Amino acid sequence: MLFCKIIASEIPAKIIYEDEFSLAFLDINPINTGHVLLLPRRHFENIFDMPEDLAAKLSAVSKKLAIAIKGSLSADGINITSNNGAAAGQLVFHAHTHIIPRYTGDGFTHWKGKRGYKDGEMNELVRKIKTALN
Ligand code: AMP
Repeated sequence: MLFCKIIASEIPAKIIYEDEFSLAFLDINPINTGHVLLLPRRHFENIFDMPEDLAAKLSAVSKKLAIAIKGSLSADGINITSNNGAAAGQLVFHAHTHIIPRYTGDGFTHWKGKRGYKDGEMNELVRKIKTALN
């Protein structure tokens, strides 16, 4: 697995942060320069199999990285995102978070919503998701 090899130093990467549970390096195909990937050292495919306490720790590191990237690169904003599952655009199946510097007028736009909701549909969705949380 590609990212496991980077963690094991078998494949080079431009590492910008590491600690006992995580590693962050430059994405080789950046959305904007300074686009960073943050990943757990332990192998998990994505958010679905990652333990909650690890996800919380990574979230704290992503905040630290976002502040450092924004400040050092004079970015106007930062996107923090992760693709979980092939349907969500995940290409590398070792959990990772993208931390992407953004600039006013850099040309990237967000997805447009496809549709609104039918009558009663929102209530049904709230019920389903709340049930799954319990
Ligand atoms: P995704 O799985 O869709 O969230 O994206 C995987 C990301 O990994 C892409 O943005 C790639 O550019 C990046 N990537 C793939 N191989 C490497 C590599 N060897 N070093 C750094 N980034 C990589």
